[in-house]
Amino acid sequence: MKLQKPKGTQDILPQESAKWQYVEGFARKLFAQYNYAEIRTPIFEHYEVISRSVGDTTDIVTKEMYDFYDKGDRHITLRPEGTAPVVRSYVENKLFAPEVQKPSKFYYMGPMFRYERPQAGRLRQFHQIGVECFGSSNPATDVETIAMAYQLFEELGIQQVTLHLNSLGNPESRAAYRQALIDYLTPLKDQLSKDSQRRLEENPLRVLDSKEKEDKQAVENAPSILDYLDEESTAHFEAVKSMLDNLGISYVIDSNMVRGLDYYNHTIFEFITQVADTELTICAGGRYDGLVEYFGGPATAGFGFGLGIERLILVLDKQGISLPLDTQLDVYIAVLGQEANSGALELVQALRRQGFKAERDYLDRKLKAQFKSADVFGAKCIITLGSSEIETGQVLVKNNQTRTQLETSLAQVKSDFQTIMDQLAESKIKKLLL
Ligand code: ATP
Ligand code: MG
Repeated sequence: MKLQKPKGTQDILPQESAKWQYVEGFARKLFAQYNYAEIRTPIFEHYEVISRSVGDTTDIVTKEMYDFYDKGDRHITLRPEGTAPVVRSYVENKLFAPEVQKPSKFYYMGPMFRYERPQAGRLRQFHQIGVECFGSSNPATDVETIAMAYQLFEELGIQQVTLHLNSLGNPESRAAYRQALIDYLTPLKDQLSKDSQRRLEENPLRVLDSKEKEDKQAVENAPSILDYLDEESTAHFEAVKSMLDNLGISYVIDSNMVRGLDYYNHTIFEFITQVADTELTICAGGRYDGLVEYFGGPATAGFGFGLGIERLILVLDKQGISLPLDTQLDVYIAVLGQEANSGALELVQALRRQGFKAERDYLDRKLKAQFKSADVFGAKCIITLGSSEIETGQVLVKNNQTRTQLETSLAQVKSDFQTIMDQLAESKIKKLLL
């Protein structure tokens, strides 16, 4: 019997999910500033949506897909990435129609699935935040999208993140390079891994993306794709570089970087961080001008990236960055005896209706245990409610940090607790001044 989580998956418990919510909320706000709107596509797709666009010879498609035949004998796969599904949706919903404002910008966040060997920052169910921009081949789009990811990392406080940049050029440049790479690799074929010997036949650029040691060695002196860019491709890449310079975003050129997906052309990039001596890619993307047409839409430029949330949070943790999480309770109701049970319910509900984060005791525990709970929840205030408070209609509100207390009416607490919180905060200042 297997009653544990599947290999390569994770339960995200409340302490962790608070960080996730913070990062996701931060991204939503930032993306909105760049005029991105959210798109939500299914978690599973027809197998072909992924296989042909991501590439039949890529690791993702050949080794990592969670695919199956459903009860209607349809070939289905859990999505391994977000771009192909968003492009599928863009075309299927005719978002290229003339009345839709261009460029159209979408973001998504959610789980992706890849059958990989699990390790730190590599899971079988992982989560991506991604963006896709359709309808602009302006290099300024490449740069602002990269700058948006950069701003996200910078404002979250991530250090030592390096932008790696390359260009795959247009299809003509790429074809010329492909031949040069075949000419270079063919004499070295015996030194390549089994996988890369196959890749050499099917899709030689994939050899550059291999993580096998022998392949990395073999490609060290491979010709650079940048020497095979035609005039148009060179002009685009030069424009991207100079606009990055103008925004003060530094980068390193990595001419062996090809990315693990087939649909890219022109600009590709990765943001790489340093985590305890090892390099970790937290975000990657690029331009994919042929993809909309491939899905049956009109020729439409595309640019996007995906960033791994697990890896981002791993880096935040390892770099000791604590996020300003608001997990504190505003008020805890300590309940003295069964007689106050119903009154405590009315009180805590009245506080919540005013927008306060409120909790109470439900278990008729000793006051000491209740105060301990209030501390654990980080409660800013405590109100003790027993039968005498209910009888007199008067309660003591205690500031749990300063221990300052204030006597007030239950009616006031139920109608306008904010004034009481403010008064308690003021008395804290007074106390500090004394
Ligand atoms: P890698 O080279 O590390 O396998 P990739 O090229 O397959 O990455 P992409 O498909 O470009 O990655 O995905 C974009 C981002 O999603 C990665 O930079 C990473 O942050 C994250 N990511 C990819 N695969 C995983 C995974 N199995 N577990 C966790 N995060 C992942
Ligand atoms: Mg991968």
